[in-house]
Amino acid sequence: MKIKIVKEKRKTLLLKIVSTNEILVKAPQKLGDDKIQNFISSKEKWVKNKVKKMEELKEFANNFDFSKYIYKFGKPILKTENLSIDFNKFTSTKKNKIIKQQYLSMFDLLKEKTQEFGKKFGITFKDVRSCTSTCKWGSCTSNAEIRLNYKLIILPEEIIDYVIIHELCHTKHMNHKPQFWKEVEKYCPNHKLLQQKIKAYSFVLKKCSDSG
Ligand SMILES: [Zn+2]
Repeated sequence: MKIKIVKEKRKTLLLKIVSTNEILVKAPQKLGDDKIQNFISSKEKWVKNKVKKMEELKEFANNFDFSKYIYKFGKPILKTENLSIDFNKFTSTKKNKIIKQQYLSMFDLLKEKTQEFGKKFGITFKDVRSCTSTCKWGSCTSNAEIRLNYKLIILPEEIIDYVIIHELCHTKHMNHKPQFWKEVEKYCPNHKLLQQKIKAYSFVLKKCSDSG
C-alpha cells in the first residue's frame, strides 16, 4: 500500500483512499511524524475493509457479463447457457429479450419489497411497475406510481432497498430538498453511503442492452 502524506495548513488529520493500493493522508504542518503514523495505524482496519469492498466491486465489474449470467442481489445465480432453451441458436437481440424476461420474472420480488416497506413505514402508493432505462434505477410519478428498473434485482440487496425507499419517499416529496432527505434518513440511516455505492454500479445500467 502506497501512503502519500501531505502536510498543509489545516487543523485535523484526514485519510483518503485514492485507489486499492494508495492512500492519501493530509496532516497539519507542525504535527509530528509519530502522531501521523499512529493515526494511520488506527485507521488500518477501516482501510482494509474499504479496500476489500472496492476490490470485490472491481471484480464484479470486470466479470459482469449480462449475456452469460443471470444476477440476483449482486451475485451471478445462473449461467444463461443453462437456461432450458437452446441459447446458441438465437441472435443477440433475441438473447437479450430472453435475458430480460428472466429478470422480469423476478420483478415480483421488487414489488413485494416495495409493498412491505410501504406497509412498514406507513407510505401509500398507487402501483409498482417495471421500467427500462439506461440511466435511471427508479422513478415516481406525481400520482404516486413507482417505477423500478427491472435491472435493479442485479444489485446487492442493501442498494435495492435504498432505491425503493428513495422512490417511496418521493410520494411525499417530489424533489430532492432537505425535507425529502430527512424522510429518507428516517428509514435508511446509511443512505449517503448507499448513494455512493450505487454510483459504482451505474455500469450495469449501461452495459445491459435493451435492444429487442
Ligand atoms: Zn429521487
